[in-house]
Amino acid sequence: MKKLVSFLLVIVSVFSAVFIVGCKGCKKPESVNCHDYKINVTFDDKNMLLTGYEVVTFYNYTDTTITELKFNLYGNAYREGAKFAPILCGQTALAYPNGLNYGYMTVDGVEVLGSQVDYSIGGDDKNVLIIPLSTEIFPEESITVKIDFTLKLTNSLTRTGYNDKTINLGNFYPILCAYADDGFKECLYYPIGDPFYSDYANYTVTLTLNEGFNVCSSGVLFDSKKVDGTATLTYKIQNAKDFAFVLSDCFDMVTGSVNGITVNYYYVTDTEPKLTLNSAIDAIKTFSNLFGDYPYKTFSVAETGFYQGGMEYPAMVMISDALQDRSAISEVTVHETAHQWWYALVGNDEVNYAFLDEGLTEYSVALFYELNPNYGFTRAEVIGMAHKSYQTYCSIYDRLFGGKDTSMCRSLSQFTSEYEYVNIAYIKGALMFDYLRIAVSDEVFFKGLKNYVKNYSFKNATPDALFGTFEALADTNGFFNSWVSGEVVI
Ligand SMILES: [Zn+2]
Repeated sequence: MKKLVSFLLVIVSVFSAVFIVGCKGCKKPESVNCHDYKINVTFDDKNMLLTGYEVVTFYNYTDTTITELKFNLYGNAYREGAKFAPILCGQTALAYPNGLNYGYMTVDGVEVLGSQVDYSIGGDDKNVLIIPLSTEIFPEESITVKIDFTLKLTNSLTRTGYNDKTINLGNFYPILCAYADDGFKECLYYPIGDPFYSDYANYTVTLTLNEGFNVCSSGVLFDSKKVDGTATLTYKIQNAKDFAFVLSDCFDMVTGSVNGITVNYYYVTDTEPKLTLNSAIDAIKTFSNLFGDYPYKTFSVAETGFYQGGMEYPAMVMISDALQDRSAISEVTVHETAHQWWYALVGNDEVNYAFLDEGLTEYSVALFYELNPNYGFTRAEVIGMAHKSYQTYCSIYDRLFGGKDTSMCRSLSQFTSEYEYVNIAYIKGALMFDYLRIAVSDEVFFKGLKNYVKNYSFKNATPDALFGTFEALADTNGFFNSWVSGEVVI
């Protein structure tokens, strides 16, 4: 996500502010390295309801026998009475300009091996669907389940909300919890950061809706049918951690291409859409050269109602229609595009190690400015701003709270404010990479980033994965330890 607290403007703004389809026991095909979703949903724009089902094939690539599956139900965090509201109290008025209102996600039935099963809704906040399996799934085997579900959207500028112009369908379906450290990782919808952690999957998503809508999506349009005023659209994407849509009946679109990738910009109010499109294209060009090829066939940017600066999904990002200033629109577009490498291509646990993707993404923005001087900022200016922001954060916390926690490996639940989160995960994260670059040389730094991408494409990387990649090139373990532990004084 990109906070409205801009990298460049952070100092001044903080105070202004189955049926069973498959079979149990199928061997995982050699060519498949991830799960599979076939989602079929219908959108009712009168009632803002999404209903349908998903057929999910779980491949057991762990070395453990699996006896149950768990899915995160992010949409249920928007319900009345949720213990973990998805929006901070202080941002409720911003996110719900027409007043606080509620949505929900319900599971309406689950079939495994052709039979309805007694699933349960658990987790700490009714945020997890638990499906017991009557047969054990051994390593290298797979199981397919069908889940019927309903999503009710809120009238809000959130990832899963609508306003009078745009409809955000982020996190719109039950998604398999990532499997790590001998268990499925349940995610609570913390209001700070992006509380998401999933494994890679291939997606085929069919959406039926009134044909007056333009659809911005992860993935490539594979099939399209129009019957009696409704459109049925099928999209596909391979090796993705998630899938999302933004819908609007007033979207215009401009299209370009770079390195054989189609880049679409769906906009509503942007008066200079080609400039925004060019920022996305320039970012893809820059980051492909620096880190490795962009991983998908398309990249779509949606200008939409969103209470933060922007939000990333695989092959698709949201940027807020509240961004007025050209440099802010460019910066958010570049930031979200960088997430296609740090989050979409090289994944991570965004709940516990947010600095991995946000720090690298924010530093990628600094690299973008360095290599694209026509955008009007230098590396020295950007890093200088980051220094000032971080030092201001430190002095404020020292003064107000008598000290500060500058450790970087911590859960979203351990940040006391969004201000602290931005300064640790984004700003300190970006500074760490700039100091690393100075310490090891440009040659080693960029080789390390390329190796990180090569070694962890379509995998969830850990901090040790990042540190180990650089340690293989230079003596950097002490450097990283001092930064993430909070010992280093900047
Ligand atoms: Zn971000």
